[in-house]
Amino acid sequence: MVLSQKGSVSWCSPGAVITELSLQQESFNEGIDKMQTWNIGEAKITKVVEMEQMWPGSAVIPDANSAAVLEHDWILGPFADRENGRIRLSFHAFCIEIGDEKIVVDTCAGNDKARPNFDALSNLDTDFMQKMTEAGFGPDDVTAVICTHLHVDHVGWNTRLLNGVWQPTFPKARYLFGETEWAHWRVEPQVYGDVVGDSIQPCIDAGLAELVQSDMQLNDAIWLEPTPGHTPGHHSVCISSGGEDAIITGDLCHHPIQFELPHWSSEPDVDKPAAITMRRRFAERYCDDHTLILGTHFGGPSCGYLRPLGNSWWLDSKGFADLDDNLPNG
Ligand SMILES: [Zn+2]
Repeated sequence: MVLSQKGSVSWCSPGAVITELSLQQESFNEGIDKMQTWNIGEAKITKVVEMEQMWPGSAVIPDANSAAVLEHDWILGPFADRENGRIRLSFHAFCIEIGDEKIVVDTCAGNDKARPNFDALSNLDTDFMQKMTEAGFGPDDVTAVICTHLHVDHVGWNTRLLNGVWQPTFPKARYLFGETEWAHWRVEPQVYGDVVGDSIQPCIDAGLAELVQSDMQLNDAIWLEPTPGHTPGHHSVCISSGGEDAIITGDLCHHPIQFELPHWSSEPDVDKPAAITMRRRFAERYCDDHTLILGTHFGGPSCGYLRPLGNSWWLDSKGFADLDDNLPNG
């Protein structure tokens, strides 16, 4: 996919634009079309990428300026550019196949959606659904969609534009939305366009949406774990099968550097103190030598194992690295 555009990107909490910087995108996604997969017991997980770019870290995490990023060797290469300190940021879906279930966790930004205040995600025209279909997750294949939360970059492919109408992309799926999350966003002012109207309400109107608790168990192998802070009803997704374990973070952190520095807040964290506490709690719990951490916005290998680092943690991605140092700048 080639996309060229100049404009500005702002990543903000609803109600307040916090960060604005100039953006130039060109020919992104080149070289990252090989899909990464993981096997967790009987579960097969495939990462389908909508876009991956090198971003100024401070666009998402204000403390993550280039100089500060370059001080942390372990992220340089897999998760950040060792030359200029930009961070790898990916928008992708984790697609889980187990038994008869095909589950999509987070649906990225979507095509054709007007996103004022977020040019990087506005009116996209990507081949994401083609890649989803190639991965076995075409529109009629998917049995469930999980949104870790209802931010603009996690609900986009819930719907697609057909005959001028927003319709559920996966008409045979149940769409699982957090009850607490929906209660928050249904009344919150929308600063990125009509996200509720174009990406959530059509699923409700089609009778496909289920409001769920943040600790819902989907089946023997998959359940939700409440990880509020980034948003009020945020949850992560646990996968456990055949004695193996993984967890999909959602946006409790946007970059692995936040395991070493949990107090580095993400700009869009709704409750920053709660998000800091949640990152620490998460790292303490899953620094266990066997739980694979799958990062929803982590670029490159997008995964690793949490290891202790002084009083903190780091994410060990050795053996998983799928490096591409030629990503364009975001
Ligand atoms: Zn996100």
